[in-house]
Amino acid sequence: MRLRGISSKNIGMKQLSLTAFRQKTYSFGTMNEFSGISASPGIAISQAFLYLDDTPTIPRYRIDDSQIADEFERFTVAVEKALGELQGLQNQERTNGGNQHELLDSHLLMLSDPELTSSIESRLRKNRLNVEWVLYRFIQEQTDKLLRAEDQYLRERTADIHDVAKRVLNHLMFRQKISLSDLAREVILVAHELMPSDAIAMNKRMVKGIALDGGWKTSHTAILARAFEIPAVLGLSDISRAIRTGEEIIVDGNRGRVITEPDDRTKKRYLRVQREWRKREVELMNLNELPAETQDGKLVYLTANIEVPEEVDALASHGADGVGLYRSEFLFLRGTRLPTEEAQYHAYSQVLRDVRDKPVTIRTLDLGGEKIAPMLGGSRERNPILGWRAIRLCLSRVDLFKVQLRALLRASVYGDLRIMFPMISGIEELNHAYEVLDEVRQELRTEGVTFREDMPVGIMIEVPSAALTADILARKVDFFSIGTNDLIQYTIAVDRGNEKIAYLYEPFHPGVLRLLKAVIENAHEVGIPVGMCGEMAGDPVATLILLGLGLDEFSMSSVGIPEVKRIIRSVTISEAEELVGTVMEMRSYQEVDSFVAELMRKRFEVGVY
Ligand code: PEP
Ligand code: MG
Repeated sequence: MRLRGISSKNIGMKQLSLTAFRQKTYSFGTMNEFSGISASPGIAISQAFLYLDDTPTIPRYRIDDSQIADEFERFTVAVEKALGELQGLQNQERTNGGNQHELLDSHLLMLSDPELTSSIESRLRKNRLNVEWVLYRFIQEQTDKLLRAEDQYLRERTADIHDVAKRVLNHLMFRQKISLSDLAREVILVAHELMPSDAIAMNKRMVKGIALDGGWKTSHTAILARAFEIPAVLGLSDISRAIRTGEEIIVDGNRGRVITEPDDRTKKRYLRVQREWRKREVELMNLNELPAETQDGKLVYLTANIEVPEEVDALASHGADGVGLYRSEFLFLRGTRLPTEEAQYHAYSQVLRDVRDKPVTIRTLDLGGEKIAPMLGGSRERNPILGWRAIRLCLSRVDLFKVQLRALLRASVYGDLRIMFPMISGIEELNHAYEVLDEVRQELRTEGVTFREDMPVGIMIEVPSAALTADILARKVDFFSIGTNDLIQYTIAVDRGNEKIAYLYEPFHPGVLRLLKAVIENAHEVGIPVGMCGEMAGDPVATLILLGLGLDEFSMSSVGIPEVKRIIRSVTISEAEELVGTVMEMRSYQEVDSFVAELMRKRFEVGVY
């Protein structure tokens, strides 16, 4: 069967849902402190908003003949409610002149399809299982079929089917559905997990802080929290079970603490820290117009990592020298359709125009791993982090890759654009990527479309095999950008988003430091610059070491730039090189960690606030 509504090409943004249910065994109303990972700095004090996993656990139990009619009745009532909800949304769209009515029409069509009703009824009779389970299995089968379809449009519709099914399931299971983008009051978002697509969609003005059970500094949700300058504490284990909506909480993103129901003294103390923190931020902004230059004249570049074009506004207010990493895949995580060439062209040229004459490095699609775009069929891999992602995905979906390259080349006339390929593991992949790029250039020339012929092309060094063959790769590119988030993950074999083994995730592991040194030296040998766009580049504890290793460009969330600049401007390059000489002799990360942390605290007050 083919669900009605999926055949009409009429689907837009997917709705996100928010669920709230009553917790069981916690005693609320008393002050408690939870310890986690400080993922984004700053202090937030507000009411908690519990955002529970969007994927409900589906109950499964047997029913007997006498219950079939009741189960079916439950289903029809839930469908009626879901239809009413969709019609309500449709009316709102019409009144507000929104652009979601085509999407809503298609969802209404799917839900009112008589084949859906008859399939559920016959399955209830045949399987004698509860209706939630029957519906869930039915939807799984339908989407599995669609994912195998030749037609890409049909494959992309699976997200809509899931959305519609979730709406009905929520009614069957009495779950309340609210959209994160509709948050209308200031809250601290508390959740077990927040997908990057949730973080992109949420109403950022209303989210004052984030507290999550899972995650780690380099998970993409942490990166987004920093990008949006929202204080965040991650890796809190089970905070989502200990907090309920409406409770007052404090998120201390500087120290990695969450305090629930603070008493007056604690709240006053945090309000004071919040004021001091803000004051210090303002003071640091005095450095905005100054270069990142050491006392003895070594100039480096401090650029910004951005995920969405709107972040460009933060560049000027934090004194960025351009964009060092634009994670273009977030354009693909925002909707249920792949962005067209035109949409991408507009996004890229907008960023270039907004940044004016400063350089902008756009990374080609790095989807896969935790960044799953539903329209590409999701990820059913056993090891997605080692799987079909980034350049691998692009080289096997040349159709997608070419659309992006066309959009990038067309946009290149608007500024100083550089592009880079993610996850390159060796020369073969790089050559293959160049072949596709050359084909696209040729096509554009034939069409008479102008683009910058000399646009620099670089690669990310984030796979150990690339780092170890940096001498070979350096001869083929215009620059390197070290992606330490992945490079550390793959070098130490430690999942960057898993808080259980986070203690192993060590930027100062001698193995990592040796790789960094080798990459920078090999690049400099052939005269190409090296940047770093992993989170290590924005960690003030690492600034002196990276400077001493010879890094040319540090790219980080805008918010981190002033502090790194302050450190760079107050040292000499020889001091930094001397430190590198000392730490490269050390045999363990513990030794490096404690030595460097102490030095940075005493000399630059790093970690004091
Ligand atoms: C990295 O791996 O360091 C990087 C910058 O890329 P991402 O965090 O998007 O994987
Ligand atoms: Mg990476």
